Amino acid sequence: MIYPVFLPHAGCPFQCVYCNQRVSVSCGNQGSGLAAFVRMRLADYAGQVRSSGRPGEIAFYGGTFTALPCGLVEEILSGAAAFVHDGIFTGVRFSTRPDCMAPRVVEMLASYPVRVIELGVQSLSDSVLEKSGRGYGAETVFEATKRIKRQGWDLGVQLMAGLPGDNRELFMRSVRKALEIGADFLRIYPTLVLEGTALADSYRKGLYAPLSLDEAVALLAPAYDLALGAGVPIIRMGLQADRALEEPGAVLAGPYHPAFGSLVKCRWWQDRVDSRLAALEKLPGDELIVHVAQNQVSDAIGHRKSNLLHWQKKWGLSAKVVGDADLTGMEISWKTKSSNRDISL
Ligand code: SF4
Repeated sequence: MIYPVFLPHAGCPFQCVYCNQRVSVSCGNQGSGLAAFVRMRLADYAGQVRSSGRPGEIAFYGGTFTALPCGLVEEILSGAAAFVHDGIFTGVRFSTRPDCMAPRVVEMLASYPVRVIELGVQSLSDSVLEKSGRGYGAETVFEATKRIKRQGWDLGVQLMAGLPGDNRELFMRSVRKALEIGADFLRIYPTLVLEGTALADSYRKGLYAPLSLDEAVALLAPAYDLALGAGVPIIRMGLQADRALEEPGAVLAGPYHPAFGSLVKCRWWQDRVDSRLAALEKLPGDELIVHVAQNQVSDAIGHRKSNLLHWQKKWGLSAKVVGDADLTGMEISWKTKSSNRDISL
């Protein structure tokens, strides 16, 4: 269980070119002082936990938590720690920027029950970071991650696809490096053009072109594959559907889809079966029967049966997907009907 407290733009040293949490997150501090708002949210969640009996981590998302004034961070963490001590929360997690994890900040955090830190890394390419105006380079990320890992905190890495200056190769290199530096989990967001951002101005002037939905999905499918291979979960792909994001004009352009992560998983199945089929002899009249774990059936079929249609068109096979109780993970087995071949991969 995670009990999130959203603090849009709180502590941010400046507004990043692509970011406007006022149009991407509908809940958060709505005017009361930050400390009072957090106290109120903690008390609300504590009440919920007492009645549900389901403790969980308290999470401070949005903004740059460790760039808030030090006294305020300590006040918030002390309040959360008291609930952790009482068994209401199991620990604290928060998101922050890599350049806001200086040694003195880490030292201060070490006396509180921090469990997980999510770094808004966005890219591990110096040129992309520079063109995106992030204000730090990859080396700063590496230093911050070392400090986090040394404390034994779990490390979440947030990456973005389609930032200014980014391309497929640089993005995949960022994903690889994020895995190498010990990310315990990833979040990957395709860059959207949100109203009220510098990117929106660039887009209007024709200086920035976002990825299309199809390009973004095709880009994230191999990233998902890399992370799966490394045993590192991607806990979110694409911004969480939110009523603020759905407001007319909030997203000017870019690959927004409320079920973006599901589209990526569908594409991953499509690519996976394609790569196996490419290596197989296909016989006239073969029917492709893809067996997958029960919980993978809808992703394997694809959004509106897109994968079945794709395989039929690309390979000239009639295709179906069936759930198989003997399969538990992401494995596939398939039969090609006419030749009665049964191939496990
Ligand atoms: S991307 Fe992060 S650091 Fe930049 S403005 Fe948004 S919340 Fe703040």
